[in-house]
This record gives sequence, C-alpha cells and structure tokens, in this order.
Amino acid sequence: PESITVGELALRLKATVAEVIKKLMQNGVFASINDEIDFDTASLVAMEFHAKVEKEVEVTIEEQIIDDSEDKEEDLETRAPVVVVMGHVDHGKTSLLDAIRHTNVTSSEAGGITQHIGAYQVKVNDRMVTFLDTPGHEAFTTMRARGAMATDIAVLVVAADDGVMPQTIEAIHHAKAAKVNIIVAVNKIDKPGANPQMVMEQLTKYGIVPEEWGGNVPCIPVSAKTGTGLNDLLEMILLVADMKELKANPNRPAKGVIIEARLDKGRGPIATMLVQNGTLHQGDIVVAGTSVGRVRAMTNESGREITSAKPSVPVEVTGLDSVPAGGDTFNAVSDERLARELVEQRRTAKKEEKFNARTKVTLDNLFEQM
Ligand code: GDP
Ligand code: MG
Repeated sequence: PESITVGELALRLKATVAEVIKKLMQNGVFASINDEIDFDTASLVAMEFHAKVEKEVEVTIEEQIIDDSEDKEEDLETRAPVVVVMGHVDHGKTSLLDAIRHTNVTSSEAGGITQHIGAYQVKVNDRMVTFLDTPGHEAFTTMRARGAMATDIAVLVVAADDGVMPQTIEAIHHAKAAKVNIIVAVNKIDKPGANPQMVMEQLTKYGIVPEEWGGNVPCIPVSAKTGTGLNDLLEMILLVADMKELKANPNRPAKGVIIEARLDKGRGPIATMLVQNGTLHQGDIVVAGTSVGRVRAMTNESGREITSAKPSVPVEVTGLDSVPAGGDTFNAVSDERLARELVEQRRTAKKEEKFNARTKVTLDNLFEQM
C-alpha cells in the first residue's frame, strides 16, 4: 500500500493515536486520525516506536508471574533423590515399593492410614528418599514429552528367576534416554531357581555393566518377599544421590510436576504434586498446565495435613479449578488475576491445537479418498 491512516498506524504499533500524532509532528508532519500518511513517513514513525513496541509484546504473562531466575549456589540445599521403579511385569515392582514403604515408615507416622497418592517418602539413616509409585514407563513418557523430568534415579527390577525380558529392555531404553542413573535390583533371590549371575550377564548385552565387573551400574540382590537386601538398595540410592549432588533452593516460589490427578466427588480436583524447587505453601496460587487455583489443603502420603512442602516432597493438593494431566508442570505464582488469564490463554491454545490437528486429519483423509 502507498499510504496508511494515522489511526490504522497507531493500531498496528499498539500505540495511542496521540502518541503517533506527536511522533509525526516531531518529524514535521501534521496529521489527524483519519489522514493518510505516505509509507516512508509511516516507516519512520514505526521505526521510532519499534524498540519499545517489541519489548512490551515480548513480556508474556508467564514472565510476569513466574519466577524463573537462576538459583545462586549459596541458596542451594541438598534435596532427597526422586526414584522411580521400572521393570518387566511380575518381576516385583509393586512388591518392592510396598516392602520399602512398610519397613521404613517414620515412627511418628506408623499407624497412620497410608493412602495411595502416587508418591511417598521413606527415611533412610535420617535422610529421605522419594519414590514415585506410578508405573515407571508412564511416568517417563509423559514427563519427558513435557520436558519435566521428575526423577533422578531409576531402580530397574529384574527377577532373578526370569532374567531380562522385553519390558526390562524397554525400561533400559527409557532410563538411558532420560539420562537418569540406573540401579539394578536383582529381585526374588529367595527363590530356588534364582540366578543373579545370569541376570547380570544378560544385562551387559544392553550396556548395563555391573560395578563388580568393572562397569558403573550397581546391582543389588534383593528379595521383596523376605526383605533381604532392601537396606543395601536404599543405601546405594543415597550413595548415587550424593554423587549427583542433588540440590534445590527451598526459599523461592515452588515449581514442580504433577504426578497424578483425579476428581473427587466431595473435594473436587485432587493432584499429587512433586515439588522440584522452592517451597509450596498452603494458600499459594498455583498454575498447573491448564488448571489454576489456590492450594486449599495439603496432605502427605500418611494423610497428615501439612502447611508447606520443600523440594522433592510429594503432596496431595486440593483447590485447583480442574484436573491437571499427569506430567504437567506447575508453578506457584504471584498474581491470581494474571494466573487465570494465563490459564485462559493456555486453554485457548490447546483448543486451537486440537482443532488444527482435526482439520489436518480431515484433509489427509480427503486426499486419501481422491
Ligand atoms: P510387578 O508386576 O512388577 O509389580 O510385580 P508384583 O510386585 O506384582 O509381583 C509379582 C509376583 O511376584 C507376586 O506374586 C509377588 O508376590 C511375587 N514376588 C515379588 N517379589 C518377590 C520376591 O522377592 N520373592 C518371591 N518369591 N516372590 C516375589
Ligand atoms: Mg505392579
């Protein structure tokens, strides 16, 4: 186009008409809102506005309400390792998690009703270890897809009487792709047919070389049934955690990942959140994927109400306005109104994405039929 009206230019520059008129005057052009100005003059004004306009547009709501600053070394504190248990079906993942939970509940919480919240913490030598109680594969795929790796260590359970199986191999691939440390728990060593040597031999074919054979993967013989080796396994987890120097800053707004979520008839949406950095407090405004709300009640896996959760602590939270997806990231934010606006934006974007995906499929189908 050869020309543009002052009003239109203001609109495009996201400036007020008065600002544009003022800029024009500074350049020796006197025009009012409906006057046309030539392209060269318009570009000149646009250029002078540009730097400012660009800056304003770039500050997203996310940037305004989510504290994304780097932590200073001196603010960091050691945090508990987050562990996921993986392996072939029936090799003893659930049994192992149960055995660890039952032998290591802290005495103050013994007798409390243990709830399934998808994650729990156990105490080992006065230190904590966080276990994700979700199927390892699922946790990995959804979280990796969202770029929110929640785990530090994968315990690969292999039954000593059965050896490496398809899902064992799959688990190795997942763990390697996610770059988490692997510890092998050679389970069911109480069984007569148990052959831990065979398991270790098989594993070397998949790049898992046991420490005792000069590799870097600890292999711990255990029995989820009798409890043999469980302490060795837990101590190894702490040793690996120490090598990784896992740290976080408890003194900042919380961020983390949704482990699982559901709708409760009485209490509304309930989400198990794993805090990865900062501290989550009761009353915090939280954005989780396309959900938003204020943390109403927080409980740990014993059903005990708590008022804050530090890094690596999993908590069950009520107060969100909808059910977030497992693997969604969450952030405690500073402004409720903007938080709601952000979630609105995300919901719209999600709808558009879905719509676009649908139209694409329809077009593909159309071409296929032709
Ligand atoms: P998952 O599918 O990997 O979660 O495996 P489960 O924990 O459900 O265990 C499958 C079966 O193996 C169950 O019957 C368990 O009782 C049994 N099992 C698990 N661990 C052991 C163990 O250390 N020794 C023995 N003898 N049986 C075990
Ligand atoms: Mg199971």
